[in-house]
Order: sequence, then structure tokens, then C-alpha cells
Amino acid sequence: MHTFYVHMVHYDYLIVGSGLFGATFAYHAKQAGKQCLVIDKRPHVGGNVYCEQIEGIHVHTYGAHIFHTANKDVWDFVNGLVPFNRYTNSPIANYKGELYNLPFNMNTFYQMWGVRTPEEAAARINEQIEDWKLKIGDREPANLEEQALLLVGRDIYEKLIKGYTEKQWGRPCTELPAFIIRRLPLRFVYDNNYFNDPYQGIPIGGYNMLIEKLLEGIDVRLNCDFFAERNELTALADTIVYTGPIDRFYDYRFGQLQYRTVRFETEVLDTPNRQGNAVINYTDRETPFTRIIEHKHFESFGQAVYDNPKTVVSREYSTEWQPGMEPYYPVNDARNTALYNQYKTLADAESNVLFGGRLAEYKYYDMAPTIERAMALAKERL
Ligand code: FAD
Ligand code: UDP
Repeated sequence: MHTFYVHMVHYDYLIVGSGLFGATFAYHAKQAGKQCLVIDKRPHVGGNVYCEQIEGIHVHTYGAHIFHTANKDVWDFVNGLVPFNRYTNSPIANYKGELYNLPFNMNTFYQMWGVRTPEEAAARINEQIEDWKLKIGDREPANLEEQALLLVGRDIYEKLIKGYTEKQWGRPCTELPAFIIRRLPLRFVYDNNYFNDPYQGIPIGGYNMLIEKLLEGIDVRLNCDFFAERNELTALADTIVYTGPIDRFYDYRFGQLQYRTVRFETEVLDTPNRQGNAVINYTDRETPFTRIIEHKHFESFGQAVYDNPKTVVSREYSTEWQPGMEPYYPVNDARNTALYNQYKTLADAESNVLFGGRLAEYKYYDMAPTIERAMALAKERL
């Protein structure tokens, strides 16, 4: 096994992880004339944006990914690699069979109360908020439930927030901190676009195409866990760009960081159009899953939906994370933040290892900010 490395090229960069961070850094390093080797412990490149093809449909294996940004440089960069389609995220909420548009906007208010003007809607919401203020008085909201009632009133809270949030976090809203929901947008216009960003879409041909373009002409080794061959791999390059979990890099010496995770049940159905939308949230407490994704709607629109007689859906379950499970969302509470800061002190002192991305920075980054950070690191270092 070791002789395998003897006559190998020496690289400027060994990039651990082929997700958007590693792949974007590798792209820029190559442009700057550097030799890179990208490794990934998974059998495919792309990290969490990877899609598998089932029945001709790109299935988002690690959860639905919708690209959105306000950063024109990032948008131009990705579109220069692969054009993006016009997908606009507009999820629907299903509360015990009643359907509501999200985010909370005039369509939602009409569906909820039959109100037709912004003034009528605001009056409805304010009436409920005032009711709650009479109960709570002047004191600060003590938990998520109290905060939500102050922001949107009882109807929206009970039908569209309570059940979904409790499933997602695995605990009652009265035991969740108020800050989680402090910024709940209410829109008094008929606009179902979930995001406020000016740029949004899905790469035409899927996310794998974007990753392929980023990694074009770059050496990649799959099924290769950095920690299984740490010394040999380290010796291959001058500098390491590490995008895996930071606590693992230091053998968990201060303890393990925690994550929130999700589990997917994916099914192929013999029908061209199961739910008529990419994302439907189940906002009641009784339905065990949080949402159902119908993947084809990310990439085919209108009549084209019927070109494929089959469809693929994934039910998404929020699950308590255990060591060994896929780390999805960092838990940025006091304990984990303090622990991360201990690891970060070690990382900052490294001279030939750069840390970046969602796992190495223990931070929830959307795709666009991940690319932005990798571009900034490349600019600084190359
Ligand atoms: P990752 O994609 O996690 O890549 C890290 C890579 O490192 C992985 O491939 C892993 O296998 C590899 N690796 C780890 N350890 C080792 C090791 N020891 N040896 C070798 N390789 C290793 N963002 C959006 O903008 N819009 C969305 O709608 C959206 N939805 C999301 C839904 C879910 C469920 C999740 C979890 C995330 C979502 N995101 C979304 C965020 C998005 O996934 C991230 O911004 C992006 O994937 C971060 O890229 P990364 O390279 O930092 O990490
Ligand atoms: N949320 C909700 N009802 C919904 C969707 C979201 O109450 O139908 C709340 C919930 O508390 C969730 C938060 O809004 O934690 C953010 O949800 P979103 O889906 O926007 O973000 P993500 O799941 O990516 O964190």
C-alpha cells in the first residue's frame, strides 16, 4: 500500500473533502497554476450537494438544496460554469389537510382567514398579538412559543409553526429558546417566493454538473479517508485544505461537537406528479416527518413534468444525532461554541493546514456563502 505513493507527484495542495468548499478552492488553485489532489471518503464527489440519478430524476441524496444568493460575484461565478434554471422555492404547508402558502404572505392570510387586503390581514394579526400581550404583560418572552405569539399571533403559530418546529428540534416550543424565531418575516404582498435573495435556481443538469466543472482536470481520489492514511497523504503536499469535522482532526481531544441530523425515506412512484410542488411541509405534530420533497419539480416545469411517467419523493425526518451518524447541522449553543473555540485556537496556530467549510468551521453555511468563503481563502492564499 505504501509503495503506491513512492513515485507520485508532489502537490501544492491536498484538499480533504470534495464538497463545495474543497471543490471551489481546488478550482481557483488550478487556475493559479497549482497542483491539487482532492480526496473524499465518500464514493462520490460533491459532499452534500451530490445527487443520485433515479428514474432519470436528480435525487438530492443529502437533502433538498436550493441555491440562492444576493452576491452577484458568486452568482456570476457559478453561472459561468453551468447555467442555472428559474426554480423559485415556494413551499406549501399542509396542516391536517389544509393547505397554506409559505412564507407567511397575503396568500397565506387569505387561506387562513379569508382576508383580502394588507390592512385586513394586519388587523387580524395585531388583534391576536394584542390578546397575547394582555396575558404576558411587559415581560420578555421566555421561550419560542411566547416569542412566536408576539410576532405572528395564535392562528399562524398553532397551524404553521408549533408542530413543525417541535418535530424539527425534537422538543416542545416552550423549551426552545426565543431567539431561534426572533426574525419571522410576515409579508403583506401576494408573493410565495421563500427567499429574499435576487438570485436563485438549480444548475441545469443538476449539482453534479457544477461539481464536475469545478473539479475538471484535477486529481481526485474517492473512498479515501484522510485519517486512514494521514501521514502518507500529508507527505504528498505542501499545504492541506481540510474541510472535514474539526474535532476529528484533533482526535476529539477536547470532546465531540454535536449536530442535528435528518433521515430520508425515498420512494419511486408510478405516477408523473405526486404532489405538484417540490416542497410540502407537514406542520402538524402528528405526522412523523417534517416535509416531503418531490425532486423532479426542481428541474422540470409546467407540462414537462409529465414527460417522465415516474416520480421520486423523499420524506424527511428530523433525528437526534448520535456519534457516527452523518453530521448535518451544527448546534451553535453555548457548550458547542465553547468547544469549537478550543479547537479553533489549535487550528489558527497551524502553519500548513487551512480549515474551511461547514464542518471545519462548525458553522451552518448555505451553498453561496460556502463558495464565497472558499473564493476569499483562495484570493488570500494563492
Ligand atoms: P460538505 O458538503 O459537507 O463536504 C465535506 C466533504 O468532506 C464531504 O464530501 C465529506 O465526505 C468529506 N470528508 C469529511 N471528512 C473526511 C475525511 N476524513 N477524509 C476525506 N473526506 C472527508 N444550502 C443552500 O444554499 N440551500 C439549501 O437549500 C440547502 N439545504 C441543505 C439541506 C441540508 C439537509 C443540509 C445538511 C445542508 C443544506 N445546505 C443548503 C447547505 C449546504 O449543504 C452546504 O452549504 C455545503 O454543502 C457546504 O459544503 P462543504 O464543502 O463545506 O461541506
Ligand atoms: N418553520 C416553521 N414552519 C415551517 C417552516 C419553518 O415553523 O413550515 C420554522 C422552524 O422553526 C424552522 C425555521 O422556521 O426551524 C427555519 O426553517 P427553514 O426551513 O427556513 O430552515 P432550515 O430547515 O433550513 O433551518
